[in-house]
Amino acid sequence: MCWQPCFEARRPGTDFCDDCWLRLATHRSVDVRSAVVSRDDIPLEVLQDMTEDMDAPVAYAARERVARYAEDRASDDIDWMEKTS
Ligand SMILES: [Zn+2]
Repeated sequence: MCWQPCFEARRPGTDFCDDCWLRLATHRSVDVRSAVVSRDDIPLEVLQDMTEDMDAPVAYAARERVARYAEDRASDDIDWMEKTS
């Protein structure tokens, strides 16, 4: 795939700026969107947008990952409580 040259600052911890994340998440090619949804560095709000994807497997993958994000955060909270108590 061809991608525009972009000189914006990347979103910290990821390979793209906020603008490019949005454009990739709404790309008209489902191949691009399914690659985006499986990236480790995808920001949570981009994943959340993709849960409404018109392609069911992409939307399903995004929903799974959002659920996992929530679980990770829940277990972080437990660790934090154990350390401070
Ligand atoms: Zn960009």
